[in-house]
Amino acid sequence: MVTVYIGLGSNMGNRRANLQAAVNMLRELPDLQITAIAPLYETEPWGLKEQEPFLNTVIQVETAYSPRELLSFLQEIENKLGRVRKEKWGPRTVDLDILLYGHEVVDAPDLQIPHPYLLQRAFVLVPLLDLDDDLTMPDGRFLRDFLPAVADQKVNRISEYLV
Ligand code: ADP
Ligand code: MG
Repeated sequence: MVTVYIGLGSNMGNRRANLQAAVNMLRELPDLQITAIAPLYETEPWGLKEQEPFLNTVIQVETAYSPRELLSFLQEIENKLGRVRKEKWGPRTVDLDILLYGHEVVDAPDLQIPHPYLLQRAFVLVPLLDLDDDLTMPDGRFLRDFLPAVADQKVNRISEYLV
């Protein structure tokens, strides 16, 4: 079993319900257990600015699936929840990203782990550090050391939670 961190985001429709539906679908997978869920954050859109604010969080899971198996399950869930894949960084019902997979590094055209923007996005870093303040990159760098560099990005913790 490997400890994996998955980033969840939604900026269409009932955002919390969309994220909860994704969590519920992940719970159906036999070889994956959700071990922790970070608080929800409302965040300004990143990349394409002319869209609704996102709701973001990160979950910690233990899984026996390979990175690629996990990616295909995540894409299946994105598709089932009706994500319309129109423009990169555009609006989406649910976006599911593999952020960290143990200390593994994957560098393929369709899959990069750690997620390439991990250290640059407050909406990923902040909930990751909520779950484990001692998290490191595969090369040993502490994630918390990258927080000051994203301090200008607005992330607001909201009072609703996923269960
Ligand atoms: P982003 O998540 O950066 O906003 P998209 O979700 O639109 O962008 O990008 C989807 C593509 O990203 C997928 O087709 C997938 O192959 C690729 N990808 C590369 N690395 C990862 C990863 N670690 N987790 C999820 N998708 C990834
Ligand atoms: Mg994605």
